[in-house]
Amino acid sequence: MDIIVLRPGASSKELHNITKKLESKGFKANISKGTERTVIGVIGDTSKITEEESSAFEAMPGVEKVHRIIKPYKLASKDFKPEKTTIKIGENIIGGKKIHVIAGPCAVEDKATLLKIAQEVKKAGATFIRGGAFKPRTSPYSFQGLGEEGLKILAEVRKKTGLPVVTELMDPRDIYLILKYADVIQIGARNMQNFRLLQEVGSHNKPVIIKRGLSATIKELLMAAEYIMAQGNNNVILCERGIRTFETETRNTLDLNAVPVLKNLTHLPVIVDPSHGTGKWDLVAPMAKAAIAAGADGLMIEVHTNPADALSDGEQSLKPTKFKALMKELKLIAKAVGREI
Ligand code: PEP
Ligand code: MN
Repeated sequence: MDIIVLRPGASSKELHNITKKLESKGFKANISKGTERTVIGVIGDTSKITEEESSAFEAMPGVEKVHRIIKPYKLASKDFKPEKTTIKIGENIIGGKKIHVIAGPCAVEDKATLLKIAQEVKKAGATFIRGGAFKPRTSPYSFQGLGEEGLKILAEVRKKTGLPVVTELMDPRDIYLILKYADVIQIGARNMQNFRLLQEVGSHNKPVIIKRGLSATIKELLMAAEYIMAQGNNNVILCERGIRTFETETRNTLDLNAVPVLKNLTHLPVIVDPSHGTGKWDLVAPMAKAAIAAGADGLMIEVHTNPADALSDGEQSLKPTKFKALMKELKLIAKAVGREI
């Protein structure tokens, strides 16, 4: 917290109370009295002031607004590191000129299906295979994933196709299992604020894709990334995957504002998942194109050879032919915005 703006007409007693409180915390107040309002510049190491302390100042009588110059997320912020972060995963660099497309089924179902999907998406230009072995399903009776068996299948498919593996970690107890098989750990939307889980992936070096929570603000997404980075793991990729709004035509509302907003605030790579963002396969292509145009560094797209029989998210999965056609279009858009796929 660096600047406290007082309400017009704030009394000198209120000003006195605020400066006293600042001084009690070891800060000095630089008071600037304008014609309309008084502004206090807070002098000292304000980076240690917590969000709660900042809110407490905002609640004091006479205070209109507290502006933090040092943001509550630090390591993730552009103020801290202005140059873009690039993350090397095998031969692939995420956050550079090349846009990476992570494709595959929602869940790993069986080896033959995953291999076929992987071969198809690779041919079309995808650079990562995705597939959940631990699935965060809304109903406990829905398919929960194959567990370690699914991870083994992912690793076999990587061996056969060369595609690095992206898969979700839901529980800190599974961390070593996931580390053994995955190239990138996915933290799902439902776990974006599972802070112990974030700290666990933060204490290893494996790249992490963190998906925006169902009702999370952009700032909360950045704070979640900060949790990971605060433990020493800077290999963090942010993923916009749609948020809950009043709209019911789509599963979620894909917030493409988040892409340029995040680009202004953070040096971390930003990818977009138009599959979960829309919930409908026919909306995936237009929103994937829009995401690239908006400046995304990559996409995560669900693809299935037989969406009608998929064990999860079939309604938002593209068939390989449709995925291939989309990749062709994406190449043109990438070129138009100075990128490549
Ligand atoms: C997924 O990627 O399959 C998934 C469950 O995504 P999200 O966490 O964004 O819902
Ligand atoms: Mn899914």
